[in-house]
Amino acid sequence: AKAAGKSAHRTCTPALRESAVSRAELIADLRRAVDEQQLHLEFQPIVDLATGAVRSAEALVRWQHPRLGMLPPARFLPLAEETGLILPIDRWVIHEACRAAATWRDRAPEATVAVNISAAHLRRPDLIATVTEATAEAGLAPRALTLELTESALIEGTDAVLERLRQLRELGIGIAIDDFGTGYSSLSYLHRIPATELKIDRSFVARLGADDRAYATVEMVTRLADAFDLAVVAEGVETERQHAVVTAIGCPRGQGYLYGRPDGPGTVGQNRA
Ligand code: C2E
Ligand code: CA
Ligand code: CA
Ligand code: CA
Repeated sequence: AKAAGKSAHRTCTPALRESAVSRAELIADLRRAVDEQQLHLEFQPIVDLATGAVRSAEALVRWQHPRLGMLPPARFLPLAEETGLILPIDRWVIHEACRAAATWRDRAPEATVAVNISAAHLRRPDLIATVTEATAEAGLAPRALTLELTESALIEGTDAVLERLRQLRELGIGIAIDDFGTGYSSLSYLHRIPATELKIDRSFVARLGADDRAYATVEMVTRLADAFDLAVVAEGVETERQHAVVTAIGCPRGQGYLYGRPDGPGTVGQNRA
């Protein structure tokens, strides 16, 4: 008993004990967050690189925690995924994003909205119902909604997931592969997944100019998207130089702090100055 007590003491440092408590608290708090309207969405523009016109906006969730203040998704989505709370959160995000997009139509009739979908949600048959309800309730055309899925979520894709993606496509909903190039993308998988868009991961954009392979990757994905008739977005464009390089490569769309921060002024329906 003495030995066990000793090793328990050794592993349970004050910092660990504190993080274990705040973790349990955070889960309890997260359970209430949706009902108590503590979540909100920030929208980040996706622009046409040639004209600067805003084509779309990605919804990014934030949690205004009553004591801890504004928490970014990295602080609470992993917990949400572990506990299953990601499902009500995802559902709330889809509904809220559709409602917001419906209000943009006067300013930007062609603008679309993009929503991140967790791997857990993709495995659920009710994703179709959630999306259908959300667009119908908001009076939003299904083609104005794009679901962003990461490669890792897609790679786990069973036949049921593929069938679900096909149904979403038939409804007119867009399917973007997020963080493209960071997962296990193979060409065969691009043939199977009914994607409409590739989002080039920002790690490649960040290394443009410093790393020839990053340049080659952005160029290759842009050509690939063109050949497969997919839309393509360069993510994480922060500098004029990166903007110039991705534009020269021929990538048609960009997203990043250079064009608008997720918490910046609303830009849908406006052009980049
Ligand atoms: P993501 O889908 O790759 O979203 C882009 C992330 O990059 C966002 O971080 C955005 O704020 C950030 N970003 C945009 N432009 C730039 C830039 O120029 N430079 C840099 N350094 N960063 C940039 P955020 O909002 O913290 O979200 C992180 C991740 O959390 C997202 O990555 C997405 O995977 C996930 N996420 C966000 N909102 C939701 C949501 O509503 N539902 C789900 N399931 N996941 C979400
Ligand atoms: Ca995304
Ligand atoms: Ca991304
Ligand atoms: Ca990411």
